[in-house]
Amino acid sequence: MRLLRSVTSRLVFFYCLLLALLGGAFIVYTVLSFRHYARDTVTRPISVRIQVIWDMAQGSLDDPARLAGVMDRFATEAQDRFLRIRRGTHILYRSGDPADHSFSASKIPLMAPGPPHLLGNLLLSARVFSAPNGDQITIDSGQSYVLVEGLEDQLTALVFIGLPVLLLLAGIAGFILMQGALKPVEEMIKAAEAYSFRDPQKRLPLVGTDPRLEALGLALNRMLDRLDTAYVHVSRFSADAAHELRTPLTIIRGELELVMKEAAASPDLERAMSNALEEMNRLSGMVDSLITLSRMESLWGKQIHLVTLLPLAIETVEQMNLLSEEKGIILHKPQGDAAVAVNGDRDRLKQVLVNLIDNAIKYTLPGGDVRVTVAAAAGKAQIKVADTGIGIDPAQHVRVFDRFYRVSTDRGEAGAGLGLAIVRSICHAHGGTVTIESEMGRGSSFVVELPLAGAENDTTLK
Ligand code: ADP
Repeated sequence: MRLLRSVTSRLVFFYCLLLALLGGAFIVYTVLSFRHYARDTVTRPISVRIQVIWDMAQGSLDDPARLAGVMDRFATEAQDRFLRIRRGTHILYRSGDPADHSFSASKIPLMAPGPPHLLGNLLLSARVFSAPNGDQITIDSGQSYVLVEGLEDQLTALVFIGLPVLLLLAGIAGFILMQGALKPVEEMIKAAEAYSFRDPQKRLPLVGTDPRLEALGLALNRMLDRLDTAYVHVSRFSADAAHELRTPLTIIRGELELVMKEAAASPDLERAMSNALEEMNRLSGMVDSLITLSRMESLWGKQIHLVTLLPLAIETVEQMNLLSEEKGIILHKPQGDAAVAVNGDRDRLKQVLVNLIDNAIKYTLPGGDVRVTVAAAAGKAQIKVADTGIGIDPAQHVRVFDRFYRVSTDRGEAGAGLGLAIVRSICHAHGGTVTIESEMGRGSSFVVELPLAGAENDTTLK
């Protein structure tokens, strides 16, 4: 049934089925008509011939030699026929074996009078006549049926072998024709599947399609144009907005820090200022993350290089050690295969590690461990950041990568819910993935998989 999923296979299957049904009905009709016609053609002359034979035999019934002489004119044997004239069971004349040896004349049993019917290979009819002297004379006349039967068999074999061959040829031809006709559609599907906002100029190919398909392709391409424009507007807006927010936030933060120094005398004012500054830092962090995300999507296509992952992980861990020590968490030195390398943007890959390690530290209780490992498996480079923290409910696994999504809304952890969204964007941009393995209360592992560096060292990200 899998085969029938494609449009081509389905169409060819149904058209062959229809052909088989119509062909089958036509064959049955042809064979039956031929049989009827052939039997009729052989049968009808037999009855006529019996009458002619009787007319010629009447005068010679009492003289066997004369009767034989008269009957020999019919050349019965040469025409594969049978002739017998009898008075009851007493045979007055009987023809010899036919030229085609399809029956033995001496072995044909005496039949009751009746219309022609098949007796082995012989189509035989018997009729009784009354002689002028009152004798009842029976004439048996027959015709070999071998030739007609042979023709019938040949016709049957021809159509029963011919139909499957015809169906096979029609199926192959149909398949090739359909594939040719649907090729533009397949190409449009491939192009549509490959479409992404990272390469927004790509459109569906329309060359060589038929006018209706071309109209469909044009309509879809126009839709892509509109989507593209809307997408550019939206992403430019969020990038611009985040960028515009950055300057006033920096100024306000500076001012707040200044006021805090001045307000050292009043404890209440100092606490209020400290809270305001904390929120300001959170806001600045969010704006920075938004800018990173928008750059991720709009500035793609830059030059990338070979990045060896283990040294990058060691460097990142060393820089984040202070953070883990502050929280009483052991951040182990990354382990793994030192040769594993990918083609990519080093800064962004470092950002992946920073975000994952930062989360691991944030969501692990003091005394816990965070381990980073680098490996290569099945053509993929693998970075694993594992912690012994609070874990993530399986129901949240998909959602944690969404923008602004946080499992806990506890503001104490000062996150904006953008860290994992950035990780996922960077992984996708590198042709990779990020997945979670986690158990509530036991810890989480984030596994990043990226294509291993191939022969080419420098390329452009798609
Ligand atoms: P945030 O800035 O809130 O950390 P992220 O996008 O980095 O945003 O993470 C989204 C949510 O996923 C977090 O709010 C947290 O609840 C959950 N999360 C992320 N990493 C971990 C982890 N290592 N352990 C437990 N929960 C995590």
